[in-house]
Amino acid sequence: MRFFGGIFYDIEDERVIEAIRSIPRELFVPDEFKDYAYVDSALPIGYGQTISQPSLVAYMTQLLELDKNKEVLEIGTGSGYQTALLAKLAKKVYTVEIIEELQKRAKKILDKLGLDNIKYKIGNGYEGWEEYAPYDAIMVTAAPPEVPEKLLEQLKDSGKMVIPVGKPGHTQVLKLIIREGDKFIEEDLQYVRFVPMVK
Ligand code: SAH
Repeated sequence: MRFFGGIFYDIEDERVIEAIRSIPRELFVPDEFKDYAYVDSALPIGYGQTISQPSLVAYMTQLLELDKNKEVLEIGTGSGYQTALLAKLAKKVYTVEIIEELQKRAKKILDKLGLDNIKYKIGNGYEGWEEYAPYDAIMVTAAPPEVPEKLLEQLKDSGKMVIPVGKPGHTQVLKLIIREGDKFIEEDLQYVRFVPMVK
């Protein structure tokens, strides 16, 4: 499946394709980059942060196998673009952002789109969001140096987590982690570049 031209990933889940097509990405990118909203590339969103390229957002979302019974924790609200996709596919999204201004901007857009199954928190997502844990799925869009223990703890049995991992200045690997009881099955998927997660 090809998105927006450019790089493409294997997106086969029709629900993910339909959902991502229904989200106006231009709303989530700053005015000066609106012309590039439908190019498959990452763009700056201010405060040194970036919105990922849509094909990667779709690919990462597909890995979580969401449906309307599932509750998902997202770390790194950023522009809110990934949040919108999660909200379309899951029952409920709990999203944590450390930069208040970004969260405010994202919430405004997501409210405008009528996405009302999202709960927002300003805080350090390295700790997850204990209050509503455990989650069926966890989506992390900033890269910690290693997988945070708290996030593993907050994943339900059979739950799935998608997370980029790598030390600042080093290569990051996108991982899919599946919980099986007390065991965590880890699969390395590909090299990626996300902003570092604040610890
Ligand atoms: N998914 C976003 C991209 C986010 S960029 C989108 O679609 O636009 C990564 C985001 O993670 C940034 O907004 C950054 O501020 C946030 N972040 C970094 N460290 C964090 C932490 N410890 N807790 C919560 N958010 C964090």
